[in-house]
Amino acid sequence: MNSIWIYSPHAEIGIWFASLSKFIPHLQLLSHEQVANLEQEFLNDLPACLLCLTTLSDRTLRTINEVCHSANVPLVVADQIGSDFQIGPGVIFGKTACVACFEQQKQYFPFNGFAPYSDLDARLSDTLIEQLAQRLSAELIAFTEETSTSSLRQGKLIRIDPNTGNEWQIRGVKSPICEVCSIWAKNPLEAVHL
Ligand SMILES: [Zn+2]
Repeated sequence: MNSIWIYSPHAEIGIWFASLSKFIPHLQLLSHEQVANLEQEFLNDLPACLLCLTTLSDRTLRTINEVCHSANVPLVVADQIGSDFQIGPGVIFGKTACVACFEQQKQYFPFNGFAPYSDLDARLSDTLIEQLAQRLSAELIAFTEETSTSSLRQGKLIRIDPNTGNEWQIRGVKSPICEVCSIWAKNPLEAVHL
């Protein structure tokens, strides 16, 4: 596997990075500036771009979604939401729902899937972070190695309660009129004739 990029401004990212690096070689940590000025050339030939524990604004997340789409590099978002941890979406542009598709549908989900990581979120113990990092690594490897049973490749979000180990999945649907990833966004005239 080639390198996967990971980004977060939070102190906990050190433990996440160390834990994920045990399973994913060549993981690279990006700086805030690199993410804020992310350009297509940076992403060339990457198997995936991972955003973990982000505090990115919706606008920046949307921009990264667009840059990954242009570079045709899969994007994976993993975030703590309250006391839960969410893996996904894993975006294969043109096949699964992208971040913009999910945003359009979030009114239909029983939770806000893109609440930014904040100081109000419960702090997880190092042990729990190590367990979750192992789980995230397994999902990332299945995703990038195109394992047919990969939940992320099927467009699902995986929501985990780290304290009980309970988890559930919700499937997002690629929007036919997504402003980023649909044929409508690229070729409106062609889309009319489909
Ligand atoms: Zn989309």
